[in-house]
Amino acid sequence: MAIQRKPLVAGNWKLNGSDSLVEEMSSALQKAEISSSDVVICVPAPYLAKFQSSGFDIGAQDVSEHDAGAYTGEVSAEMLAECGAKWVIVGHSERRTYHAESDSQVAQKAAMAIKAGLTPIVCFGEEEEIRDNGTYTDHCIAQLAAVIDVLGIENFAQCVLAYEPVWAIGTGKTASPEQAQDMHKSVRDFIATHSADVAEGMRILYGGSVKADNASELFSQPDVDGGLIGGASLKAEDFIQICRSA
Ligand code: PEP
Repeated sequence: MAIQRKPLVAGNWKLNGSDSLVEEMSSALQKAEISSSDVVICVPAPYLAKFQSSGFDIGAQDVSEHDAGAYTGEVSAEMLAECGAKWVIVGHSERRTYHAESDSQVAQKAAMAIKAGLTPIVCFGEEEEIRDNGTYTDHCIAQLAAVIDVLGIENFAQCVLAYEPVWAIGTGKTASPEQAQDMHKSVRDFIATHSADVAEGMRILYGGSVKADNASELFSQPDVDGGLIGGASLKAEDFIQICRSA
């Protein structure tokens, strides 16, 4: 019998937020009575502790690949866990692009997260020119293969994946439901070459200009298990509607 994957909606505030947004979002989510286990908000690290009282899962947006030491400005997975984080985004395209994070660093960050009891949301996705030249599936699978190489398939099973085509992030250019489904299915088939059970249970989110009016169609695809939401996670009403679509 096929495993039922519980949909997940993760918000990514990026470098946005304030005490008042934390309060507004916590109270809106509580009033909306959305099942708390299906929703996570990834906030800038200073808001982790403040958001904790909402009763919803909170996550960070990045983590150090190191445990401790002379790495000024870095925050370790253990520290995030102590601040109440249960999740952490790794390998977001903005980290890969602006901070030159490599596939192996992303894999190492995922490993640190798992060691500290956090669930890594591992982002992968192709730039527009890779989409246009047709090698996007190979590109994405190579990004994930690097993570499996470091974690091993048993630890990889503890991750959530997020397909985020770079050309769709913050651009208003959403992947079509068919493009998203096609990639998610290819990724699941690839994971099945390591373990059919891990492939079946793996939650693969879609991210890239998901809005209240396109979420239902994207989330209704058989291999799309929810979304990673950037801009629309800053507006309580929109985010709640997206959560309901999942
Ligand atoms: C993101 O930041 O991960 C993202 C998907 O952003 P947006 O929803 O704004 O495209």
